[in-house]
Amino acid sequence: MALDRCKGCALCVPVCQPGVLEMTTERNAKGYVLPRLLDGCTGCRACADVCPDFVFEVYRFGDVEHEAEHRQEAGR
Ligand code: SF4
Ligand code: SF4
Repeated sequence: MALDRCKGCALCVPVCQPGVLEMTTERNAKGYVLPRLLDGCTGCRACADVCPDFVFEVYRFGDVEHEAEHRQEAGR
């Protein structure tokens, strides 16, 4: 998440089906309140689609998660 670009609009929170995004009281350098990502992201990309400021790069999280799963499955 490129939180320096976040504008604190909170649009990402309600679109997250598993509810793993929540707004915090933390602020970035521009003074906008920031969302936090909790455990349980499914990589659905809804947040990336709705965010007007391109904060989310879900494909990276997804790739890393899938890589980890593959490694587990392969017993590595
Ligand atoms: S990609 Fe993850 S954080 Fe974003 S909306 Fe989907 S489950 Fe929520
Ligand atoms: S939708 Fe984007 S800009 Fe709005 S709070 Fe979420 S991360 Fe920040």
